[in-house]
Amino acid sequence: MVKKPKVTVVGSINMDLIVKTGKVPNQGETVLGDSFSTLPGGKGANQAVAAARLGSYVSMIGSVGNDEFGKSLINILKEEGINTNGISISEDEATGIATIIISENDNRIIVAPGANRGVTPSVVASHKELILESDVVLLQLEIPLDTVVYTTELCNENNIPVIINPAPYQALPSKVINLATYLTPNDIEAEAITMDTILHTIQEKLIITKGADGVAFYQGNEEATVPGLTVEVEDTTGAGDTFNGAFATKFGSGASLDDAILFANAAAALSVTKFGAQAGMPTEQQVNDFLK
Ligand code: ATP
Repeated sequence: MVKKPKVTVVGSINMDLIVKTGKVPNQGETVLGDSFSTLPGGKGANQAVAAARLGSYVSMIGSVGNDEFGKSLINILKEEGINTNGISISEDEATGIATIIISENDNRIIVAPGANRGVTPSVVASHKELILESDVVLLQLEIPLDTVVYTTELCNENNIPVIINPAPYQALPSKVINLATYLTPNDIEAEAITMDTILHTIQEKLIITKGADGVAFYQGNEEATVPGLTVEVEDTTGAGDTFNGAFATKFGSGASLDDAILFANAAAALSVTKFGAQAGMPTEQQVNDFLK
């Protein structure tokens, strides 16, 4: 039997507030929109849910506010079987939100990180035991950068693989790049990383997601690609998060790099067939059936 991996995600937890509108207001203007929905999001929480649905034991280290969104988001994570003991409740900051305005051919997003700013190195240190028992740790860049640095160093000192999804892009300190096991940028983030770094020194760590075109990675000096799979696209939000949760799950269970990428590419393709970041995240069985 393949091992069920322990994945710890240190990252953001947000409520997405989604307004669909035919017209985006100009400065000073009010328009009537079409619909409103609240959906769970945040790259950290999304990646945790993806990994849990695919069979990982997932623990999440993060922070929400002492408010209704925070309670609801913790419950959603619990319902996915995620260990939420590492999520602290801030009395000073509101739960992080993303206001997403969707109009024809256009998305506009404002993120108010709120309690996610409170995911400091000392919060991670206080849940060190979760990190130390992990097969793999997964990070993104929606929490303070010094927490990403601290967690990466902690993992490295304890020989725990760490996957960093460098999104939304910020320049990473070179020690973080050097200590990461894998970096999973999309095309645009990969371009920024390779401008900041000497490519050949890090290329074997890079797994580049390319939307409908699939995934590119390196085997030695050779670039390899896994083509995108054809699906009926409903909403691509969270495709990258599904890829990361799936890749961490397979890699953490001891699969080869190629197998982990093939699996994650299929899981991410399935995720774009439904509206909402978490709604379309598949189970392991669904991915295996799709790959048959
Ligand atoms: P997002 O920010 O929307 O979550 P991203 O920019 O981080 O996405 P992408 O490179 O767009 O990440 O997508 C991640 C992976 O999802 C791709 O490598 C691919 O496996 C899958 N994927 C995305 N879009 C499609 C699509 N239209 N058809 C098939 N697979 C897709």
